[in-house]
Amino acid sequence: MAQKKTFICIGCPLGCRVTLTIDGKGAVAGFAGNKCKEGEKYVLEEYTNPVRTLTATVLTEGSSQPLLAVRTSRPIVKTKLAEGMAVLAKVRARPPLKIGDVVVPNLLDTGADIVASGNLSS
Ligand code: SF4
Repeated sequence: MAQKKTFICIGCPLGCRVTLTIDGKGAVAGFAGNKCKEGEKYVLEEYTNPVRTLTATVLTEGSSQPLLAVRTSRPIVKTKLAEGMAVLAKVRARPPLKIGDVVVPNLLDTGADIVASGNLSS
């Protein structure tokens, strides 16, 4: 039996509601509602391998600034977000750091670094 799932495409401000149809064997049977091919690409990725940019703050050491905003250098699989947050809870960022500096390399072997979203001075 076919199954339908609806996603909001974030490819542009139009925010199309794209409906993905999956056939009885679990294969993609079609898309509806997208105004361009980007919508199909986005929905397929969301269905098969959703990724997100992890954004958070980490505690600091040796700085008058108690927290530093950080993010992944590129999106990582959604299933690793909670584990990534657990890693960041143990991190202490030390100055000097500037925007884009690597705070944690290769987070959880995802290939993405945790980088500073702001500057950190002592
Ligand atoms: S499907 Fe195309 S037009 Fe619609 S929101 Fe996505 S990128 Fe924009």
